[in-house]
Amino acid sequence: AVKATQVHKAFGSLHVLKGVDLTVMPGTVTVILGPSGSGKSTFLRLINQLETLTGGSIEVDGEMIGYKEVDKGGQKVLQTLDDKEVARQRSKLGMVFQRFNLFPHMTALENVMEAPVHVKHESKSKAREEAVKELQRVGLGERLDYYPSQLSGGQQQRVAIARALAMHPDIMLFDEPTSALDPELVGEVLNVMRSLADAGMTMICVTHEIGFAREVADQIVFMDGGVVVEKGGPEIIDHPTEPRFKDFLQHVL
Ligand code: ATP
Ligand code: MG
Repeated sequence: AVKATQVHKAFGSLHVLKGVDLTVMPGTVTVILGPSGSGKSTFLRLINQLETLTGGSIEVDGEMIGYKEVDKGGQKVLQTLDDKEVARQRSKLGMVFQRFNLFPHMTALENVMEAPVHVKHESKSKAREEAVKELQRVGLGERLDYYPSQLSGGQQQRVAIARALAMHPDIMLFDEPTSALDPELVGEVLNVMRSLADAGMTMICVTHEIGFAREVADQIVFMDGGVVVEKGGPEIIDHPTEPRFKDFLQHVL
């Protein structure tokens, strides 16, 4: 599970997140919607500790991220985690970005094997076996030895998903994974995400794919101006109550 409590984030004087509360239960899919600049990516980056909080807290699997409580002369104080502990916490999360971020000089298989071998220190043979499985799972069992430049955008994004899955995350974070794709390639990536959801993966997805949100999400969150403006089941897409959410939906539908 992920539990965000009164999350604030400022970049200098720019106050981007202004008290975000959100709970994501294990095995559920949350879709975050919102206009450009509303803080969606920043929120995902905070969960994955690519940014640090300026206020509030986030728990992943019941554990506060970035900090631990220590006893200091009978008083409980928060202490920043060291790099190793941060790495351990981050290994629970897989993240897929808008841009595929594959290593261009490595094949699909090598891209997926990279972190298990170099971060988890798995043997090459075990990592290869796993990587083949993950690539098959995203429908790329026939493209193992292709380089990113030889793959379509949709195929590259599926490799990126396989690469995240190879680390066995508990939770997957998707930041507009289809918005850089040609329209005809969007479906194949959404299908992979849908099958992940069906398999019980806990997912937080920032996306403008309203059809996907309606069909796959357990929870919809509409963010604007650094706060959660409306939150509910997928039915709120067709029955929004907040004017700002109504207005947003009219523009994306
Ligand atoms: P989009 O839909 O365009 O991706 P978003 O909702 O993901 O938007 P964010 O990327 O989270 O929005 O950005 C929210 C605000 O924070 C923007 O005004 C952005 O310019 C600012 N911002 C994000 N990252 C930084 C940074 N590292 N330093 C300064 N400002 C930042
Ligand atoms: Mg963004």
